[in-house]
This record gives sequence, C-alpha cells and structure tokens, in this order.
Amino acid sequence: MNQNMYQRILLKLSGEQLAGKFDAGIDPKVCAWLTQELQPALERGVQIIIMVGGGNFARGEQLAGHGIARVTADHIGMLGTMMNALALTDIFESKGIKTRCLSNIFAEQVAEPFVHRLANKHLEKKRVVIVAGGIGRPYMTTDTAAVALALELDCQVVLKATKVDGVYNKDPVIYKDAVKIDKISFDQAVADYDIKIMDKAALGLAMEHNLPIIIFEAMQKGSISRTIDGKTTGTYIG
Ligand code: UDP
Repeated sequence: MNQNMYQRILLKLSGEQLAGKFDAGIDPKVCAWLTQELQPALERGVQIIIMVGGGNFARGEQLAGHGIARVTADHIGMLGTMMNALALTDIFESKGIKTRCLSNIFAEQVAEPFVHRLANKHLEKKRVVIVAGGIGRPYMTTDTAAVALALELDCQVVLKATKVDGVYNKDPVIYKDAVKIDKISFDQAVADYDIKIMDKAALGLAMEHNLPIIIFEAMQKGSISRTIDGKTTGTYIG
C-alpha cells in the first residue's frame, strides 16, 4: 500500500536556485545535490515533475526594450529554461535517476516534445519528468506554467522552492519582526499585494481549481523530502 502523503507532485525550481553560488548559469554541484534530496521520495514511489525557471539566463520582462520585442524576450527566457532542463536531466541521469526532458517549445533535436500521454507514461515508469520551455507561450512565467502543468498531470500539490522558508506577513529581509505564516487561504494570497513570492496569475489559477501550493526553502538538507512527506516547515497555500 502506498503510504505517501502525495503520490504525484510538481516541483518548481527557479533558475536562481540552479545557479547556486554563481550570478548566472548553472552550478552542477547544486543540481547534483538536488538528486540526493529527491532520492528518498523517488524510492518511496512518488512521481515527480519538475518545472524549471530560466531567470539565471534571462527574464522576458527585464530583457524587453531597446529593440527587443517582449515576445522575443520571452522566447529567449524560454530558451533559458531549456538550457536548465537539459543540464538538470543529464545530471540526474548521471546520478542514476531515470529522467526525461520534455519540451513545450519545438526542439525535436534536443528534447522530446511535451505530449500529455508521453509525460504520463514516463511518470508511471517512475521517471522524473523535467519540463523545458514553461508552457510555451510568451507573457507567462514558469510559476504559472507550473500550476497549469500540475493541473494537466493531476498533481496533488505544487511545491515552489524559494530562497526564503515560506510566506511572511512583511518582507523578512527588511523587517526583523516579520512573522512567517504556516497556512494561508488562496483568497488572502491572491488579494494581499505584499505577497509577491508567487505570481498572482499562478495563484489565481491554483485557486480556481483548488490545487494547493507549498512555498518552502529547498536548499536545506532534508527539506524537499520532508515537504513531499507532508511535514513541511514552509507555508501551505490552499
Ligand atoms: N517564459 C515564457 N513563458 C513561459 C515560461 C517562461 O515566456 O511559459 C519566459 C519569461 O520571459 C520568463 C522566462 O521565460 O521570465 C524565465 O522564466 P521565469 O522568469 O519564470 O524563471 P525563474 O524566475 O523561475 O527562474
């Protein structure tokens, strides 16, 4: 019998996390460390989909201007996610974790296309699925793409890995008396302008379909495994 709290999860990793100690690009040591952190959940049979960001290479909103159209800037951002997804896939496989990279932008020479049935098949075969290209359209971020994909693949939760250990009532970097919130409703998370940890579009979509999101700090030993196990110290939105 499967004792897991969650059987299928979507993990959102930002580009910044994959860059580790570097200002940009990929830190392979961080990616390799992630494999160790995911191993206990994989051994328990949890199916894992990873949506990777691309902010360590480019963000459309910041790149647009001076002749670069927003749509093109977003295409460049999506290509950034592709670079992360390809690197992460290889590093996972080099550590013995069966992994497939599926792309939401046409790139047949470098990755399999994202096809719903194919993604399900890989997951059922206990392969980690890493998604490149977000949702494949401009004016989107990988946060929104993560929620959309989690819905499409029947995930029970979206785990958004961040640098901070959850949602605070005010910015903990500026205010020493900021208090961490353990649980917050979708209504509050969407309405509160100060909650910027996740895109409002992503939160709105999750709210509409009642898909919980957990905001947590991934780069602490055991944190990912605890969170997948339902024992997070982060913030539960739902
Ligand atoms: N992007 C996009 N459509 C998507 C996902 C991403 O256009 O479905 C672009 C967008 O420009 C975004 C960039 O890719 O800024 C990188 O993604 P994101 O900013 O979400 O990365 P993160 O901040 O998580 O590293």
